[in-house]
Amino acid sequence: MAKKTQEKIPQTPTKETCSHECSSCASSGNCSDAKPGLPPKANIDVRHVILVLSGKGGVGKSTVSVNLAYALSSHGYNVGLLDLDIHGPNIPKMLGLEDQKLGTMGNKIVPVKVTGSLAVISMAFLLPDTSTPIIWRGPMKMAAINQFLAEVAWGSLDYLVVDLPPGTGDEALTIAQLAPNVRGAVIVTTPQDVATLDSRKAIKFVEKLGLPVIGIIENMSGMICPHCGQEIDLFGKGGGKKIAEEFSVPFLGAIPIDIEMRKAGDEGRPFIIRRGDSPTWESVDKVMEALVRVVEG
Ligand code: ADP
Repeated sequence: MAKKTQEKIPQTPTKETCSHECSSCASSGNCSDAKPGLPPKANIDVRHVILVLSGKGGVGKSTVSVNLAYALSSHGYNVGLLDLDIHGPNIPKMLGLEDQKLGTMGNKIVPVKVTGSLAVISMAFLLPDTSTPIIWRGPMKMAAINQFLAEVAWGSLDYLVVDLPPGTGDEALTIAQLAPNVRGAVIVTTPQDVATLDSRKAIKFVEKLGLPVIGIIENMSGMICPHCGQEIDLFGKGGGKKIAEEFSVPFLGAIPIDIEMRKAGDEGRPFIIRRGDSPTWESVDKVMEALVRVVEG
């Protein structure tokens, strides 16, 4: 019989098990033994912080983050996009900003402006080139995340969209602790069983962080053949809706596989900036509207 395993997130350390410095431990906010030194919640002016998570890589989490952030900004919101995929920061590539570097103003870091109402911060802006790996332990990541929040001149934001690495790691724990007004997490999945299995873990992880699941987005949901116009169920359809029902969380919508979407990512121009002339464009816009409805009530 298959061995039943239980997902775990790092437990609150005890005096016996704790080997961290409290100031660098992602769990110290819940830790009864925590000593003073944990950075306080970052003092940034933001109405809603939205985490974007997925159970596994390659499901289109960064693509969805970029397009959601862009869609929000084009609907008049002031938006920050924080790329916390520290080991694989792809957002600048998807926005055609790979050559940009971060500037400073006084003692603050200035984010890279995409439009008048969309600014981005990514580890990629600090690296000498796109092939340089980041080899950091947890405390260094925590310090970087704290800087990306507290020491960036974000201005006054309606939304801060945070693209997290896939899985259930340190970065999500840290941002949940340090960012103000975290409204919860959006979970991106593809429809097939292997992806929805991992999404279940992501949902439970978010719940263990004490955050609401804002909703599930099913990406790569069916595909319209560019030649014959018929729909092909490449990865199937409906898996995202099924897990949303199973966990009684909102389903924010489905985005099909669209070659134009892949091309847009590779060419560094968000798909959503095209005119609203395709079912895929409409699906992204609808997902954004569903997100705003859940968050703003
Ligand atoms: P993740 O952040 O989950 O690792 P990415 O956003 O990097 O995934 O997407 C992985 C690849 O899939 C990229 O090449 C991206 O352009 C492509 N992609 C994502 N969503 C779609 C979609 N709906 N249709 C076509 N290609 C997509």
